[in-house]
Amino acid sequence: MAEKIRMITPLVEIDGDEMTRIIWKMVKDILLSPYIELRTEYYDLGIENRDRTNDKVTEDSAYAIRKYGVGVKCATITANADRVKEYNLKQMWKSPNATIRAILDGTVFRSPIIVDNIKPFVKVWKKPITIARHAYGDIYKSVEYRVPGNGTAELVFTGSDGDVMRTTIHGFEGPGIIMGMHNTDKSIISFARACFNYALDQKQDLWFSTKDTISKTYDHRFKDIFQELYANEYKVKFEAANIEYFYTLIDDIVARIVRSEGGIIWACKNYDGDVLSDMVASAFGSLAMMTSVLVSPDGCYEYEAAHGTVQRHYYKYLKGEVTSTNSMATLFAWTGALRKRGELDGITALIHFADNLEQAAVETIEEGVLTADLAGISEVSKKKVVTTEEFLLEVNERLKKRLG
Ligand code: NAP
Ligand code: MG
Repeated sequence: MAEKIRMITPLVEIDGDEMTRIIWKMVKDILLSPYIELRTEYYDLGIENRDRTNDKVTEDSAYAIRKYGVGVKCATITANADRVKEYNLKQMWKSPNATIRAILDGTVFRSPIIVDNIKPFVKVWKKPITIARHAYGDIYKSVEYRVPGNGTAELVFTGSDGDVMRTTIHGFEGPGIIMGMHNTDKSIISFARACFNYALDQKQDLWFSTKDTISKTYDHRFKDIFQELYANEYKVKFEAANIEYFYTLIDDIVARIVRSEGGIIWACKNYDGDVLSDMVASAFGSLAMMTSVLVSPDGCYEYEAAHGTVQRHYYKYLKGEVTSTNSMATLFAWTGALRKRGELDGITALIHFADNLEQAAVETIEEGVLTADLAGISEVSKKKVVTTEEFLLEVNERLKKRLG
């Protein structure tokens, strides 16, 4: 066999939980270690180790991504009351993704893996549509309550210098509801930067939409911040890369997206991104085929699958039953991270390896070798439904052929 590919800078490897932890090891053993002299700095975010370290390991892993620039993360359990009981946890630890996102100050980009025989419900879609979701503020950090009856609702801001701004929201003549929400220039600037940088990285057009005709101050601030940054810092770079930045109303953009062939990055405010990323994922076919990357404004990358730990499959696995879990999104998290490491360190062999591995995996599905979740939605005529491990072995057969 040919010599293994050498790496220069370690990749931050963040292990996780349940079925995805099983897949994690299989991907490394079957598809990576035989070909690459893997250099990783390993962080075990399995729930037991997070508990043991009082969640310090989660913070450490995020700082390691800041140090080295690229990480790859397995899906992790977000603790809730059931999990606290199941694993006898000291406390209900915060979501690891939220902790990492807060430290990296990042924006999450989600895009589907496209294969030939799984047709998007929107017939004209040919290339992935990536949703960039602003992950701070708006209704996710709002305060709200029910108004009991007659009275005046006001919006009041008291400056630290004592100056007061005051506006009437509504004169109630009966019961109702009220909400206050916010965002910050700092967070919106980070979001905009992450979007512009990612568009340049992917060499794809960036579309951004809000409802600024109705929200003439709040949404308009988003539009202005994007526009200023674009004009001052990114216009020249976009022109050089031959890509476009384009702002329009959200109503207009949904119509354009449905008529487009894809290959676009669509930047969304927090709520829009939450709802529309689920819509885009479902319209492309399957959650198990969604990849996700967190990009920080200073250019650090964390790759992961968009789905969770596939708990139900794990319990089957523990009972010794056969599983047929889709490993594509986890595999693409690894290839994304390895490719990025290759680009940053100038290791062409690593970039080629990532490309070949992705193509081998896509080919496997296109030739009708499928995990159970895809068997129902694939349009290929001859289907072979395989186990979790068999799928990876089939990918390896095709990878070997490609690498000659
Ligand atoms: P999930 O793990 O995404 O699974 C939901 C269902 O979707 C599964 O039961 C399975 O359906 C199907 N599915 C998802 N991924 C699949 C794959 N790769 N192959 C085949 N089928 C797949 O979500 P969940 O059950 O709501 O959450 C489980 C745990 O994951 C929770 O503890 C949650 O906190 C955590 N979570 C972590 C992340 C993250 O780390 N990024 C994200 C979301 C959730 P069937 O069972 O019908 O086959
Ligand atoms: Mg959602």
